[in-house]
Amino acid sequence: MTSLRLTNIRKTFDQTVAVEDVSIEVSSGSLFFLLGSSGCGKTTILRMIAGFVRPTAGRIFFGDRDATELSPEKRNAGMVFQSYALWPHMTVSQNVGFGLDVRRMPSAEKKSRIGESLELVRMSQYADRLPNQLSGGQQQRVALARAIAFRPDLLLLDEPLSNLDAKLRLEMRSEIRRISHELRITMIYVTHDQHEALSLADQIAVMSAGKIEQLGAPRDIYQRPRTRFVAEFIGETNFVSGEIQGVRDSSGFAEVRTPIATMRALVPSTKKVGDRITLSIRPEAITIDHLSAVSNPQSYATIVLGKCLESTYLGASAQHLVDANGQLIKVFEVNPNSSSFAGKQVRLSIITDQVIGLEE
Ligand code: ATP
Repeated sequence: MTSLRLTNIRKTFDQTVAVEDVSIEVSSGSLFFLLGSSGCGKTTILRMIAGFVRPTAGRIFFGDRDATELSPEKRNAGMVFQSYALWPHMTVSQNVGFGLDVRRMPSAEKKSRIGESLELVRMSQYADRLPNQLSGGQQQRVALARAIAFRPDLLLLDEPLSNLDAKLRLEMRSEIRRISHELRITMIYVTHDQHEALSLADQIAVMSAGKIEQLGAPRDIYQRPRTRFVAEFIGETNFVSGEIQGVRDSSGFAEVRTPIATMRALVPSTKKVGDRITLSIRPEAITIDHLSAVSNPQSYATIVLGKCLESTYLGASAQHLVDANGQLIKVFEVNPNSSSFAGKQVRLSIITDQVIGLEE
């Protein structure tokens, strides 16, 4: 177990800038996510941490040790890939023991390490099977056991669940969370799946075009996105543009005039009165009601009137599309009202502290 620090890491491949000036700190024993769409540079960062790719600039520290020039085998990092990468001719035990053979571990110790690792991923009863006699989820468990068998300081996971079906992915998510808690191993996890990141991470770095757009705990990233990219990439949102009307109060809120209403919004400190600003409002931060229903205005909500153009009933929830003064607003309703809103005049209540002004 070790902490990890990247300082001003950059990687170019000929003309392509794959990673541009990335600095991160991962505390010992935590689960850190690199999240972003295809081509944003996350795998390149993981490969630099593993030692397979050399940074063009910047340093990599494992704890206090500068690991930038170390060869991969000296880094003591385990890797789990999307493709499992098990040896097809070796049994489960032999696959898990492979890294221990390379490290010339005495056979009694090796046997007990294999046993412990298989137990941890709940695969002990499959020890003598070949990989092609296992399901995808089971193969990924073996790959995980192989990566932790030599007790790495760092576990690097590259889209480990993307070859699994939805149900197995959920099951493996909780397995990874359990293993992370049991071993307290520092994990760097690469994915483009926001749900994986939100449900597992201690910290998430959201990446775009080789750079970190925002770094924070899952709740911060979701509830306080700083940019349009982050707000849109993680979950659904409504963008409403407006102009700042009043001075920020001590909590960072200010009045913003928009085409749908003048509302209070959390405004970044870089913005001042008169500046244009884009607000991000999550569809679940809005409640919907019939205009004819008795109004019970809440002091913490902004009321907006509109017409519901479309309603989709989904059982536990419903999604609505509302035209409010020409602006289309998405609304998520949990435990939906028994009568449909489609075609009706509606009243929306937007929870004030969930109206987030973006920096850009
Ligand atoms: P994915 O989710 O598709 O794996 P990623 O976010 O992991 O994407 P990277 O694989 O890190 O992205 O690639 C970042 C950029 O660097 C891409 O534009 C890619 O084409 C480029 N790149 C990566 N490896 C190389 C290489 N060996 N040679 C040239 N360009 C590369």
